[in-house]
Amino acid sequence: MTFDSRWQAVMMNNYGTPPIALDHGDGVRVWDTDGNAYLDFVGGIAVSALGHAHPAIVAAVTEQVGKLAHTSNLVMHEPGITLAERLVHLLGMPARVFFANSGAEANECALKLARLHGNRSGRSTIVSCTSSFHGRTLGALSVTGNAAKREPFAPLPGPVVFVDYGDLDALAAAVDDTTAAVIVEPTLGEGGIVPPPSGFLAGVRSLCDAAGALMIVDEVQSGIGRTGNWFASQAEGVRPDVITLAKGLGGGLPIGACLGIGAAGELFAPGDHGSTFGGNPVSCAAALAVLDTIADQQLLDQVKRVGQHLADALGSLDSPLITEVRGSGLWLGVGLDGAHAPAVEQAARAHGLLVNAVRPDTIRLAPPLITTEAEVDEAVPLFAAALAEVSGA
Ligand code: PLP
Repeated sequence: MTFDSRWQAVMMNNYGTPPIALDHGDGVRVWDTDGNAYLDFVGGIAVSALGHAHPAIVAAVTEQVGKLAHTSNLVMHEPGITLAERLVHLLGMPARVFFANSGAEANECALKLARLHGNRSGRSTIVSCTSSFHGRTLGALSVTGNAAKREPFAPLPGPVVFVDYGDLDALAAAVDDTTAAVIVEPTLGEGGIVPPPSGFLAGVRSLCDAAGALMIVDEVQSGIGRTGNWFASQAEGVRPDVITLAKGLGGGLPIGACLGIGAAGELFAPGDHGSTFGGNPVSCAAALAVLDTIADQQLLDQVKRVGQHLADALGSLDSPLITEVRGSGLWLGVGLDGAHAPAVEQAARAHGLLVNAVRPDTIRLAPPLITTEAEVDEAVPLFAAALAEVSGA
């Protein structure tokens, strides 16, 4: 039996049938079950921060799983406290941390903080943005600005108001004394790597301050080095009330985090929230290995440098399909002049390069933070060959 037929026999059809099955990886490379090698410029969708089988993660996870894999939240453990201390230190502001297992769960925590904040002052509306993505659980889905993903699952928690991403005037009209919180991505991730107009996050901050609403910044995809900064909002000089993290934080091990800054970190009382697996010692050990490696190897600088190299190389490709290259760090969207992205993704794969058709007209690149210029120089010609094939050039 092939992988396809085995998958189709037992898996729910929510992902369709993926085109390949991966077997193992090493650094920026992965191999499928037929032995084909690929340069991985998807990085597990912005998750595999240190690439695959990174020795620091392997060592940290191996040591921790051999020592203590799970504790429950009835007790404390060293990796969890150390990780929370490290995140608060990186943030550089007084904050408290809740650990979850995923981005959606980190956002559920943020939404519960918003609810408590709102209930204290008689406000319940969450303001979010069109084309945003915050996760698949019902709470996170309720604030996800992609109607096709959201509407089949109505009724959802609310009230939620959506405004166009990046439109501060629309946001100003929507945020008032009924608003409990505004939730916003620093750059749309699933929406196609779309940065907002400059000053947008600072504008959101001012509107939240004026209205008394919490500002929740969803850094699930943008955080922990992806843009060449620990936090994308930090690089904008903005102080949110809540930041959510997941994806790259665990370098492939499941972990999410909700950071409540200042008063927002004081909203929960014992019993208000919890998770059996959230912040388990093995995922925390992996996350510490990620943070240590990013710091020790100056990966933030590398991400900025290699990301610019990648953006420049893509920008100088002579393909009639490319309309623009967007994004920052190792988090780029290549805009195409039509719905060619699935075909480009497929052609790139055939050339040994994994990229992601995040939107019909956009290819997303989110390679590991350890990616080098030499790997970019290897990947870009493969991408160019894929574009040429699709455009018939
Ligand atoms: N928030 C953002 C910005 C995301 O990009 C994602 C996932 O793509 C999520 C939340 C949901 O994360 P998860 O799939 O870990 O639940």
